[in-house]
Amino acid sequence: MKGTVTKLYGKACTVRPDTPLLESYECYLRGRLFENPKTHFAVGDRVEFDPVEEFHRHGASGDEDRLTGVIHEILPRRSALYRPAKKREQAPQLVAANIDQLVVVSALKRPTYKTGLIDRYLIISDRSELRAVLCLNKIDLGQPKEVERARKALRTYQKLGYPLILTSAITGEGCQELKERLENKRSVLVGHSGVGKSKLAGRIQPGVILTSSDVRRSGKGRHTTTVSSLIQLDFGGELVDTPGVRELGIADIGRRELARHFDEFEPYLGKCQFKSCSHIPEPGCAVKEALQNKKIHRARYESYERLYHELSTRR
Ligand code: GDP
Ligand code: ZN
Repeated sequence: MKGTVTKLYGKACTVRPDTPLLESYECYLRGRLFENPKTHFAVGDRVEFDPVEEFHRHGASGDEDRLTGVIHEILPRRSALYRPAKKREQAPQLVAANIDQLVVVSALKRPTYKTGLIDRYLIISDRSELRAVLCLNKIDLGQPKEVERARKALRTYQKLGYPLILTSAITGEGCQELKERLENKRSVLVGHSGVGKSKLAGRIQPGVILTSSDVRRSGKGRHTTTVSSLIQLDFGGELVDTPGVRELGIADIGRRELARHFDEFEPYLGKCQFKSCSHIPEPGCAVKEALQNKKIHRARYESYERLYHELSTRR
């Protein structure tokens, strides 16, 4: 049978079979897959599995029946989101598979959005070839003037083709538009802790709490082990709830690669006087010329410069 991994806890997972109306299976990986670290899998992965027995007595009291199965193959992914390894020699860790888009959430205030942070998330989405949508939340906290100022500041991103949604998880403003963006897609909400990811999720679908979006919540409640899951949206689509989003980063991107993740630099790459131009101190740099000619936004260039230095000191 084929299905999708909807929940991952330790070494087992829940698989939703493709066949509609069939109950989910609790699955384990077959030994061979289990041993091979390359077969790390994540929520959203498509798998092939065999039911092992009709029912399996479960839980201490043995009064809960579950269908169980063994996964013998992880099917090819159309996309994957990784978080960089903490140490260079380690492999990056898979956070979620077969995702469609990242929703980069920031807040008008508390905490105030930083375009530099948005740029980081856009690099992450670009690298995984995912679409990105920007969401500026907590607009209820500002005067209309402040909201307009923020909208202007983020217009650069709209010009680059990223949709921008202004929301308030408290008043519900913009949430319908957010729903439309999420409809029939598998999305991951990313962004700084406290920007309102969980609150927004609960606003678009009452009852939903992103258990893993906030450090403060970890360790509380019944499940103390970290669990990733796919949350079904009743209007179609899914949200990925995973503790891994907290550690998404760009530490493993080589600095030479960085410019390629700034879409608007693209027409100028390869046109600099020096082949290995870093687009920072070199003369005859096509990127800097584009900056002078206002073809590239200054804040974006400064973000590039900052990240370049950050990466270069790490490698
Ligand atoms: P997360 O860490 O990104 O999941 O953020 P939370 O959803 O836990 O929200 C952090 C805090 O911001 C909570 O106290 C929320 O009630 C508050 N919050 C979230 N969204 C909004 C909003 O749109 N407006 C206001 N005023 N507060 C919000
Ligand atoms: Zn250059």
